[in-house]
Amino acid sequence: MVVAENIHKSYGRLDVLRGIDLEVRRGEVMCVVGPSGSGKSTFLRCVNHLEKINAGRLWVNGQLMGYREKSGRLYELRESEVAAQRRDIGMVFQRFNLFPHMTVLGNVMEAPVQVKREPRAEVRERALRLLDRVGLADKATSYPEQLSGGQQQRVAIARALAMAPSLMLFDEPTSALDPELVGEVLDVMKDLARDGMTMIVVTHEMGFAREVGDSLVFMDGGVVVESGSPSDVLTNPRHERTQAFLSKVL
Ligand code: ATP
Ligand code: MG
Repeated sequence: MVVAENIHKSYGRLDVLRGIDLEVRRGEVMCVVGPSGSGKSTFLRCVNHLEKINAGRLWVNGQLMGYREKSGRLYELRESEVAAQRRDIGMVFQRFNLFPHMTVLGNVMEAPVQVKREPRAEVRERALRLLDRVGLADKATSYPEQLSGGQQQRVAIARALAMAPSLMLFDEPTSALDPELVGEVLDVMKDLARDGMTMIVVTHEMGFAREVGDSLVFMDGGVVVESGSPSDVLTNPRHERTQAFLSKVL
């Protein structure tokens, strides 16, 4: 579903990703952990081509992201073609980024109506179902500022799901939340995982990683230092850097 092959990304002279190889199978949940600045967010942004990689190849759903390959050479896709690829990938950030002037329902309906040009009535029905799924059926007509952080983040998840993505990327979705609101967002993500969604989740929630993750990747300094089943990596970290990191967060 997602294949990253020797991904390199630098900003000027700063090498942020230095050869990332990863594979996420359909229906799998991959959790990514690592110290601040290790390149986790950059990697996610490369997956949906919000950042252009400098070297390597990245496939999502069998499609090379951002490029077309012809006789061994890469040609950049047009902006509209990249946008089409990106539509298949949902992303949820640390900050909820909801449209403040739109109701909750409006937020969830916006992209399918404006970007995919789907009929309003159909989108509305689907949006209401999604809001129900994230436990916010009664908030459809509220505005984001009237919601708690946890509720806003659940709207953000529903909004991403409204585009019917085949892959969901989460970048520390619970880090900005008060501790008592973290659980409700993780529960929605668990439900999504159980439902078979393919997910890459950058998180500090080791409990979530252990319980829901099919694999756990530890990144440091722009490389994958260690990966494996979450219970393995968490209980038997092989690498010194992994041990040092885990001893701080566990
Ligand atoms: P955190 O846990 O704090 O979110 P991270 O692992 O997500 O960290 P990144 O945000 O991917 O780390 O950043 C990796 C490095 O790349 C950092 O040194 C950061 O300063 C740098 N960086 C990220 N985005 C840019 C950018 N647009 N321009 C220049 N440098 C950047
Ligand atoms: Mg980050």
